[in-house]
This record gives sequence, C-alpha cells and structure tokens, in this order.
Amino acid sequence: MDESRLLDGSAVAARMQEEVAAEVAELARSGVRPRLDAVLVGDDPASAVYVGSKGKACAALGMASRTHRLPATTTRLELEELIRRLNDDPEVDGVLVQLPLPAHLDSRAVLDLVDPAKDVDGFHPANVGLLVQGRPRFAPCTPFGVMELLRREGVEVRGRRAVVVGRSDIVGKPMALLMLHAHATVTVCHSRTRDLAAVTRQAEILVAAAGQPGLIGAEHVGEGAVVVDVGIHRVTDRDTVERLFPAPSRKLDVFDRKGAVLVGDVDFTRVAPRAARITPVPGGVGPLTIAALMANTVRAARLRRGR
Ligand code: NAP
Repeated sequence: MDESRLLDGSAVAARMQEEVAAEVAELARSGVRPRLDAVLVGDDPASAVYVGSKGKACAALGMASRTHRLPATTTRLELEELIRRLNDDPEVDGVLVQLPLPAHLDSRAVLDLVDPAKDVDGFHPANVGLLVQGRPRFAPCTPFGVMELLRREGVEVRGRRAVVVGRSDIVGKPMALLMLHAHATVTVCHSRTRDLAAVTRQAEILVAAAGQPGLIGAEHVGEGAVVVDVGIHRVTDRDTVERLFPAPSRKLDVFDRKGAVLVGDVDFTRVAPRAARITPVPGGVGPLTIAALMANTVRAARLRRGR
C-alpha cells in the first residue's frame, strides 16, 4: 500500500517525546526531576516487558523511575501499604499499578488508592470525573495518544462520525469521551452490539479496541474511513497469521523466522485498501501510549508544584 496513508504512530510518539524531553530539561534547571514509580505484582511476562519499556522511556527523556516488584502472593494490605508510601513520598510524581493484577487482588479497589494527583494512568474516579466533564487532568494514556496521533497527522475530528469498538475503562470509554469533547458524533460498540459491521461501516473515524485479533474486516469499514487499531496480540498460531496475512507476506516471513508476530484487531490486509488512513501494528498506537504516559508524568510533576 501507499506508505503515505499509514498513520505513523512511531513518528508522532518520537515528536511527543522530544517535547517531553524539552520540558524535563526546563524543570531540571529549577532542580526538579520528574519521577515515575511502577508497581508490578506477580510475574506476567508481558507486564514485565511493558514496565521495562516505561522505565527505559523515562531514562531516555531524563526522568527518574523506580519499579517495585512484588510477588504474586502479595496481600491486599501489603499492596495498599506500598501505594500509601508512594502517595506520601514527595519525590514521587507518578504512580502506576501495572494491570492485570493477580486474581485475588481487586484492581478497582487498588487503583482507587492511588493519589489522584499522581494517577498518571488517569484511572482514579476523580480523574475519570474530570475527563467526563471535559477538563481532563490525566487522560488515560492510550486514548490520549490516539487523539495526539489524529491531531498531529491532520485528521479532522470535529463534526465527523466516530465509532469506537470496545467500552473498557482503559481504552473504549475514555476514547469515546475524548472524541466527543473534540466534537465528533460518537457511537460506542461492544460485544452485545447487533450487526457490528452495519454500525462500524458508518464511521468516518473507526477506533478498534476489542481485544480480538483481526475482528474488523473489509465489511466493517466504509470506503475512505480513518482506521485506528488499538489491539495488540502476539500470535503464535501460523494458521491465524496466514489467514490475516496470506502468503506471500512480510508478516508470514517474520512469523516463520521468529515463531510469533504482533497483530491488531483490524484485518490490515483487507481493510487497508478501503481506508484513507490506517495505523499499522506494531508501530501504530503502542508507542503513543508510552509517550502519553511520559507527558502525563511531567504534567503531574508540574501540577504538584503549581507550575
Ligand atoms: P478489554 O477490557 O478486553 O475490552 C474489550 C472491549 O471490546 C469490551 O468492551 C468488549 O465488549 C468489546 N468486544 C469484545 N469482543 C467484541 C466483539 N466481537 N464485537 C464488539 N465488541 C467486542 O480490552 P482493552 O483493555 O480495552 O484493550 C483492547 C485491546 O487494546 C486489546 O487488544 C489490548 O491488548 C489493546 N491495548 C493496546 C494498548 C496499546 O498501547 N496499543 C493499550 C491498551 C490496550 P463487552 O464490554 O461487552 O465485553
């Protein structure tokens, strides 16, 4: 496909990070070094990778970070004690609890404990409330990153029909709210939506965040739509990869070399020819999420100091 139709999340994320680095340098002149603390409970390998990349991003931008690793057997009280300690520590600007937590811990109750002023993921009800009212303090990172992508790639949102597939607290709902506040006419779909394709085909901007590899096919997409694929799946089954990326394809070649590839919620091969603009996976929404987290952390450092 024509590369100019790709929405280049990596490039936009790099620009966002340059801006964050400039802010960090400015804060450093007054002796402030923003710090992000991540709490990782258990040994989920994907979570460990995500937390690792957040720490690396902090270091690359001149920010401080710490990772607090707790065993999978950690009790609610132990976790609460750590979060309270981080809330009270004046050196800490951002606190993030890596999800998912082990099943015996209630994520919602744990996230409610994070000081809203340090809640750089934007999951605390106080921050959700501000987002609903259209005056976000910390917008959740993935939808925030998607809005930056659309804005910086010149995709008009105002007045357009947007459809979001997915209604999670982390992606779908805040995505819909940010689009609404940017004056789109927004529809939210979920697993009980009847005739999903008939609804999504109406979208001028379609955001797929369903967590289902290749769910969005050509029949779901109207000609000329802008398609943003939030889904990330590491697929290790060759049949699935071949169905989504029929031979000969670069994806299949990568699979044959590495035994796994990343795919999104969108069937890229069949959707890309219909789309005006489309995000790739990887290199689309993923890098934006981290860049948005860095931006939120610097914002927390400023707000806490009244700057
Ligand atoms: P989630 O909590 O599992 O939510 C998925 C949503 O999709 C739910 O609202 C669900 O509906 C809906 N859904 C599931 N199957 C559907 C179907 N067949 N038709 C219509 N709707 C359907 O997932 P999430 O946390 O929002 O994440 C979504 C995807 O984004 C995942 O692939 C995740 O890995 C990815 N993600 C990527 C990033 C990134 O940085 N790129 C960040 C976060 C998440 P119900 O509510 O009815 O169950």
